[in-house]
Amino acid sequence: MFKQNVSLTQLVETGEVMCFSAKWYGQEPVSFYSTHHHGKTAMVEAAHEILDDADAVIHYNGKRFDIPHLNREFLAEGLTPPSPFAHVDLLNVAKKQFRFTSNKLDHVAQQLGLGAKTSHTGFQLWIDCMAGNEEAWELMKTYNEQDVVLTEKVYDALLPWIPSHPNYRLYHGGVDDLCPNCGSKALRKEGKAYTSVSVFQRYRCDDCGKWSRGNQRLDGSAISPARHQG
Ligand SMILES: [Zn+2]
Repeated sequence: MFKQNVSLTQLVETGEVMCFSAKWYGQEPVSFYSTHHHGKTAMVEAAHEILDDADAVIHYNGKRFDIPHLNREFLAEGLTPPSPFAHVDLLNVAKKQFRFTSNKLDHVAQQLGLGAKTSHTGFQLWIDCMAGNEEAWELMKTYNEQDVVLTEKVYDALLPWIPSHPNYRLYHGGVDDLCPNCGSKALRKEGKAYTSVSVFQRYRCDDCGKWSRGNQRLDGSAISPARHQG
């Protein structure tokens, strides 16, 4: 139930959400809603419904940009907040874990050989869309949908590098033998994980490559009150 949301760079200029695109992780269809095709209220309600259904939202700078812009539209439409969801912000992952020349989605995707954003006519495209130009809207739709598809590909590539991914184990009753990042059962025991006070089984996921550790202590150690205080 992981959903991702496209970056809507036009919002800064126009001051309102004109359109958005989204898809459910691992599923085929890409949704696109716009003021032009659906009307403002229906578009905003669709975004609200998708976020309300999501456990986690995968985006690129969405925490600071896309979501607050959508929240403003929700407020303006008299909607209450969608149910809380976790954020997987790939921009933060790119910044934290790597040193790309640019952290823009387009650059990162191209560096990883995953494709590129749809090129367009720049700000003129937004002006043409606001003027109701059908051809411009067609390009806008393609651009939005490609952004979402690209975000999913980048997510797949960065998956084992995401430090605080929503934990699949918790969404499946706290079971120990699932990869926390991708939910796979293909965990291989590989070494031990040592903290300052205890030892845990360490695992590597054969599907995504994420390292994790078991919840059970292997050494049976307990933290004594004396050690706590001392
Ligand atoms: Zn995994």
